[in-house]
Amino acid sequence: MENTGINHYLDAAKRSMAWHKDYAKQMKKCRFDTIAVHGIYSMQEALDFNQGSIIEPIYMSTSQAYRDSDEMEAALSYQIPTWCYSRIANPSMYYFEGVLALLETYGSNVEASCIATASGMAAIQTAVNQFLLPDPKKPDATRNFVATTKVYGGTFQQFAIRKDQERRIEWRKVVHSEDINEWESLIDENTRFLYGEMPSNPGQAFFDLEKIIELAHKYGIPMIVDSTVATPALMRPLVMGADIVVQSVSKTIGTSGFGIAGAVIARKDLVSNVDNPAMKADFAMYVKTLPNRDNGPNISPMNAILALNDIRTLRSRVDMQSKSTMTISKYLEQHKHVEQVDYLGLDSHPLHDLASKYLWLVDSEHDEHYGEKVNRYGHLMSFHVKGGAKATRDVFDAFQRIWRATDLGRIKSVATRPAISTHSQQGEEGRKLAEIPPNLIRLCVGAEHPDDIIADLDQALSVLDGNKISSYAPEYSAGGASSATLRR
Ligand SMILES: *Cc1c(COP(=O)(O)O)cnc(C)c1O
Repeated sequence: MENTGINHYLDAAKRSMAWHKDYAKQMKKCRFDTIAVHGIYSMQEALDFNQGSIIEPIYMSTSQAYRDSDEMEAALSYQIPTWCYSRIANPSMYYFEGVLALLETYGSNVEASCIATASGMAAIQTAVNQFLLPDPKKPDATRNFVATTKVYGGTFQQFAIRKDQERRIEWRKVVHSEDINEWESLIDENTRFLYGEMPSNPGQAFFDLEKIIELAHKYGIPMIVDSTVATPALMRPLVMGADIVVQSVSKTIGTSGFGIAGAVIARKDLVSNVDNPAMKADFAMYVKTLPNRDNGPNISPMNAILALNDIRTLRSRVDMQSKSTMTISKYLEQHKHVEQVDYLGLDSHPLHDLASKYLWLVDSEHDEHYGEKVNRYGHLMSFHVKGGAKATRDVFDAFQRIWRATDLGRIKSVATRPAISTHSQQGEEGRKLAEIPPNLIRLCVGAEHPDDIIADLDQALSVLDGNKISSYAPEYSAGGASSATLRR
């Protein structure tokens, strides 16, 4: 036998894995903020491997070196902790994945693992693809999945074009996601999973998640939830029994806006009618080491650490931004040029009661200022301008403090018009399904003082009283970005 020295490495791996498992177990006992700040990066690890660096290091390296053939062999057969090549894994990604797995299962005994991806869309693809493979026993059987239509525009395209149209995997559309009967009527023996975005971007659609999870499990299929808008600071679907959570880390989690990233967080031993025991036992690890190794949608170590850095303050930031969004929603609700305000936090929202069942600020009962569980509804809201598309365009174009961009979750307030941006690809019909009218402005409230955002909204809405707005004269660079001089 060539590899007699391999046991030496396997023993060390066993010791190390036991130590790390125990450390994560200790961390699990801490409060949310503590986990968010420390994650799975320990002082021990810093001293042993990272020159004592108190902050998680960015390993900008393509690959890892091995001591000898034995170690390489053990590593490449995944018998020892390794990261071999950064397309598959990397220590910086590992710290990032570790903290997300802990936060999404906070306050429970649920065990989960996480795989980070280069984008939220890659995360969605990573989350669903394994369930959509042909059944070797029934290669000709049709395959379908049941998912809500009120989803992020990119998700709509991935499902409608890449899955349904290009690969003939039927997307069975749930139009009224609050209606459980509609979900159930679409399920048959070829349904592979249920999927919902909650609250949805931008419509803030909401459904009774616990009931839908129950429904999925009744049919032996997984429930996948895009929880980007809520984040684990407000809602943790895995704890309620969901099988997989998808995060576009580019958004609220990675609030600084330094880059694009995504994550899939999956419970161990998930429910699925696909016959693949290894996949079900540890979905994220399976996908990381096999399909995503071959497909290559991995996150970069730099983006992983930048996002990790934002996670540390997630809870207090979401709290603050939620409170500001409530203040701003109330201001807009009474404004004469505003037809309607959609914010789950408002009593007037038809899904307010349902949202109040699910959206709670984590650990508020342990916060000396609150001392009890408090609802928070996040920083995504939208409003409809009176006077149709033209009036909406004028108000939108008048923003000076609020950034016009197709973005969400930023530390700075950002507004977009979904009908001409995020949801333009899916056409009139698709927009109707997703309920995106042309006079809708989506506003994502940042961490500024709300008075200043209200002042900007006030001056922008005043253009409908005949106030003049300033405009920009554009110049384009070859790269496509414009520079502009302010013309007043
Ligand atoms: C933006 C977004 C996505 C896609 O994420 P990217 O990181 O942009 O690829 C998925 N779901 C929701 C809810 C989003 O807002």
